[in-house]
Amino acid sequence: DIVNFTSFFTRIIDRFEMSKSDHVNFVRLFSEVSHYIEIDTDKITQVLDNIISNAIKYSPDGGNVRFGFTVHDNMLKVMISDDGMGIPKENVGRIFERFYRVDRARARSMGGTGLGLAIAREMVEAHGGKIWAESEEGHGTTIFFTLPYDLEDFDEAGDEWA
Ligand code: ATP
Ligand code: MG
Repeated sequence: DIVNFTSFFTRIIDRFEMSKSDHVNFVRLFSEVSHYIEIDTDKITQVLDNIISNAIKYSPDGGNVRFGFTVHDNMLKVMISDDGMGIPKENVGRIFERFYRVDRARARSMGGTGLGLAIAREMVEAHGGKIWAESEEGHGTTIFFTLPYDLEDFDEAGDEWA
């Protein structure tokens, strides 16, 4: 489907914002400028759902979850960051593996199966994109993913926080 990514992303964030608990604040770092992209919306919805629910799940009281995306070099790059407990350096590379969870004690108290990010990676790669994490233990985690983007002609504006 060809969709306006800006409104697609906004609707997903709105849905989480309506049902989230008050322990987290949402911060949107993008403008309302339209950016059209061709994606499988069901699959990218699933990708975003998992990344956002992880960000909320691992956020401390009063933490911010930040949402942004940029557009350049025929790539749309999405970022979702949190102020949560982070992931130890030696484990960051493994969180996209099936059933991988950072530590058993944490995993037990948090619930989940450890499949969410593995599925997200499959779906992003099926679109020709990449997904990765940057994290600092004790300070927070940022998940990035890219999607190929070649519909600049549809857009009102280009290369900046969109
Ligand atoms: P599921 O998504 O299947 O319900 P899950 O959330 O545990 O279970 P993934 O989404 O694949 O599984 O994440 C894998 C692991 O990566 C998590 O168990 C957690 O240890 C770690 N992780 C993921 N996102 C974050 C985050 N934002 N902050 C800290 N740790 C994270
Ligand atoms: Mg998850």
